Amino acid sequence: KENTTRENNVAKIKVVVRKRPLNKKELAKKEDDIVTVNDNTYLSVHEPKLKVDLTAYVEKHEFCFDAVLDEHVYHVTVKPIIPTIFERTKATCFAYGQTGSGKTYTMQPLPLRAAEDLVRQLHRPVYQSQRFKLWLSYFEIYGGKLFDLLSERKKLCMREDGRQQVCIVGLKEFEVSDVQVVKEFIEKGNAARSTGSTGANEESSRSHAILQLAVKKHSELKESKRNNEGNEAKSAKVVGKISFIDLAGSERGADTTDNDRQTRIEGAEINKSLLALKECIRALDNDQIHIPFRGSKLTEVLRDSFVGNSKTVMISCISPNASSCEHTLNTLRYADRVK
Ligand code: ADP
Ligand code: MG
Repeated sequence: KENTTRENNVAKIKVVVRKRPLNKKELAKKEDDIVTVNDNTYLSVHEPKLKVDLTAYVEKHEFCFDAVLDEHVYHVTVKPIIPTIFERTKATCFAYGQTGSGKTYTMQPLPLRAAEDLVRQLHRPVYQSQRFKLWLSYFEIYGGKLFDLLSERKKLCMREDGRQQVCIVGLKEFEVSDVQVVKEFIEKGNAARSTGSTGANEESSRSHAILQLAVKKHSELKESKRNNEGNEAKSAKVVGKISFIDLAGSERGADTTDNDRQTRIEGAEINKSLLALKECIRALDNDQIHIPFRGSKLTEVLRDSFVGNSKTVMISCISPNASSCEHTLNTLRYADRVK
């Protein structure tokens, strides 16, 4: 299949699965672990079922992906992409799965390690002489609207310029040259993610969080505008970038019949964006000229990462416990359609 098209030996689209261990609560309830990882690419789900006469049986579902991971997530998914960022690649790395399946746990360390590797590359003489710098931004999409996580959750809007380049008006970008600073920005952004009376995980499960690291080339002339960081970021040319997207809980897309109107609207928006994302990745995989990125705010925002030299990594996170079986199968089927 075409998804093995390789540039610099890096797959254009990679789909991996990560299964988290049973947690204390699940262990206390003596829940079964129904997901078996057979080797580094195969896994099977043992779905508990009942016959009409109520006798129990197990239906086995088998899947194959580019990798089924426990550790070494960064090494397998993001690290190979890093050198291509300097060769005009726009990369995206998604974490998909139901709430509680380990998306945030999996995603958190990745931008930090990527920044570490990117900064190291920047210090190479070849790039230093080209005036490359690394810029960071962090925002979320909640109910189809954009909020800057590094600027008091300021509401942002998206614009397309004449050359169909996506621009998020007012999004704060920060130049980062050491990893400690990146860590602080990530923590600040995480703290700003939608949290309501219902608890942090509950609320953040309804938003997509997008952290971007962009390598930009700065011209000497514009350097005089240094005192205005915003200007400097805008005037520099993006060489390549990588976006880390902690997606909304996939089960939230089903909240379209909830009694609460707001929940229904958010559910519909999440459903739309996850479907649009799947369609965009499939179109990319088939080298289609037309990428249906207009299907949702999420895909529109990522438009420039779906054209040209793009790399996509989908990390599907799954829970091992029997009562999550339906969600786990949904996640694996989604991932199966993408690959
Ligand atoms: P999500 O973001 O998908 O809602 P989280 O990343 O918040 O899920 O994970 C839910 C809980 O499970 C957290 O307490 C997290 O620490 C734990 N967890 C997730 N993945 C793993 C893992 N691979 N190993 C150990 N604990 C994990
Ligand atoms: Mg989360």
